Amino acid sequence: MDVRMGVRVEGVVQGVGFRPFVHGLATGLGLSGLVGNDAAGVFIEVEGAPDEIGRFLDGLRTRPPRLAVVDRLTTRRLDVRGRAGFTIVGSDASGERRALVPWDSATCDDCLREMRDPADRRYGYPFVNCTNCGPRFTIVKDVPYDRPNTTMAGFAMCGACAAEYADPADRRFHAQPVCCPACGPSLTLHVPAAEPDAACDPLTAARGLLAAGAVLAVKGLGGYHLAVRAASGSAVAALRARKHREDKPFAVMVPDLAAARSLCALSGAEEALLTGPRRPIVLARRRPDAALADAVAAGGRHLGLMLPYTPLHHLLVTEPVVLTSGNVSDEPIAHRDAEALERLGGIADGFLLHDRPIHTRTDDSVVRVFQGRTLPVRRSRGYTPEPLPIPEGRPVLACGAELKNTFCLTRDGRAFLSHHIGDLENYETLRAFEEGIAHFRRLFDIVPEIIAHDPHPEYLSTKYALDLELPSIAVQHHHAHIASCLADNGAPGPVIGVAFDGTGYGTDGTLWGGEFLVADLRGFERAGHLAPVPMPGGAAAIREPWRMAAAYGVPEDLPVAGRPSWPTVVEMARRRVNAPLTSSMGRLFDAVAAVLGVRDRVNYEGQAAIELEQRADPSEGAAYSAAITGSAPFTVAGSDLLNAAVTDLRAKVPVSAIAARFHNGIAALVVDAASRIRERTGLATVALSGGVFQNMLLLERTASGLTAAGFDVLTHHRVPPNDGGISLGQAAVATTRQRPQ
Ligand code: ZN
Ligand code: ZN
Ligand code: FE
Repeated sequence: MDVRMGVRVEGVVQGVGFRPFVHGLATGLGLSGLVGNDAAGVFIEVEGAPDEIGRFLDGLRTRPPRLAVVDRLTTRRLDVRGRAGFTIVGSDASGERRALVPWDSATCDDCLREMRDPADRRYGYPFVNCTNCGPRFTIVKDVPYDRPNTTMAGFAMCGACAAEYADPADRRFHAQPVCCPACGPSLTLHVPAAEPDAACDPLTAARGLLAAGAVLAVKGLGGYHLAVRAASGSAVAALRARKHREDKPFAVMVPDLAAARSLCALSGAEEALLTGPRRPIVLARRRPDAALADAVAAGGRHLGLMLPYTPLHHLLVTEPVVLTSGNVSDEPIAHRDAEALERLGGIADGFLLHDRPIHTRTDDSVVRVFQGRTLPVRRSRGYTPEPLPIPEGRPVLACGAELKNTFCLTRDGRAFLSHHIGDLENYETLRAFEEGIAHFRRLFDIVPEIIAHDPHPEYLSTKYALDLELPSIAVQHHHAHIASCLADNGAPGPVIGVAFDGTGYGTDGTLWGGEFLVADLRGFERAGHLAPVPMPGGAAAIREPWRMAAAYGVPEDLPVAGRPSWPTVVEMARRRVNAPLTSSMGRLFDAVAAVLGVRDRVNYEGQAAIELEQRADPSEGAAYSAAITGSAPFTVAGSDLLNAAVTDLRAKVPVSAIAARFHNGIAALVVDAASRIRERTGLATVALSGGVFQNMLLLERTASGLTAAGFDVLTHHRVPPNDGGISLGQAAVATTRQRPQ
């Protein structure tokens, strides 16, 4: 006796070859029926013997296509129709929009094989893609995810592509961006200083420019990059000078894994990330003999590496190439052609362009590997907009922080964390923030009922949140960090939260940043903190770490105190004139870096701390100690660590050992502080968050110290510990607070 079953599949099931997969699965089992996309996902009707239908459902759950994520599958009985055959029906745009747009995926092996096969019609074609790979989020304008709703809408398929698109047995069946040299996007090379040469193929000419040491702007997947040969000191220096980027290390794209191994010592987990479909930049341990120009990443022990993730990159990159965002210093990455030509005109010698528009600007993601797992530093291309689980509740828009901004929209237990927006301090990023929110609301059909924001009154994200005139919740910055770590781990708390970062607005009006909390997703108590010190000059103290050394009151005979303005700044700190108090751990790193002569002025956020980590000798075992006094909240004397560093400096202990002892001392004080909180509360889980925990040496020492002391340790795996993860924490708190206790 045959039965007919209606099946609804939700998750990442559109644009990933789900319908052909369903078609193949059903016909293989001799079932009849239909499959289609609608705004909520995929709908299926299958008819046949109950056993075969059971096998069919099993296959849906256990063997979905490469990029699919099935997160909900519901079934209901239907009346038997008795019709033969299995058909794929068109998309239905009505109804709720709950289908999930896939993330952009690196070119698959099948497509690469075609691209390299002289007999294939896509031989050498820089836009080859299929259902298992290619652009998705960056080209989607609306849902359902169908070609007319993407930036491929303007390219009419040729007969051959249309046949593949319509053939359920083909790898390109219903692959929305399918195209070929006859019908798809094409490359052009624009060299402002030269006459156009119609005879020369743009790709060959672009490779020639790179080889000759030119700065090449390349239109990629989520925006423009600037590329130069990584082995050429003069090319890298020219890029730095024109981009106004003095020291911040550049990432390098290498042609293949062998080239990656020649530059960095890679773990299995790092190699898996480098070669996987998401293809982030992986910060890995650099080999001392890496053949790179010094200016790529001067002095660093780590190097950001990535492998080609579009066919264009595979064709262009034949040796290590610096690949950096196409922008001037802190502006957002350029992603529209006219804008790129204008903004990058003073930087690039040539432009490798194509005519497939980029709808959403998306930077490369950046990750590190900690204990064999991903530790995100920037979550963007290749990850966005994959949803993260979050407690169920009314829809929330969380507006994030000021620096490294992301926003987050929630519904039905899913959090849609945005791509990396950047620092909300200019008109361009603010516009990207506002447009991004509008786009996400539309794509995921979310009408927020509650707005979550940082309490800092001067953040543009806060101002935006309060202008919406909806019920709003201010989530303290460090509470949001810890909540983000909890949500990242699917843990409700309460936990001992250790939030170390640059600065965030505290509930007492001072700037926090070296915080020990007892926190869950609902609220927090400040259990302890670094002893506050003045920040002479406010924001100036962030740019000039030597000011923090002055604020901490280091002896006058140290080299750092030699500058003419030192006495003025000491006086500012003493009198508290334009010197807000801060308990920031980031600023303590600054003070130590300045005292050690590592860095007294920074060109990018966190530079002093990053360089201090790079200088530290990981084999050094000794640790400084810091006194903890008082209770609820207790105070940690950060100056103890600094004074110990000064003593060692006078005793001519090498800077590498001092830097390591300082790191080890912070790890030790975290264990000490957490043990006090455990004694009082009985809590034995510690969540580590805040930008300071991107420091691998500190994270590793702290986590192993806590583990040895019997604590469970939560670290970040899906969202960054820095302010890029704040919006998820805000959303988790706002969602949880709506529910009864
Ligand atoms: Zn493919
Ligand atoms: Zn075609
Ligand atoms: Fe922060």
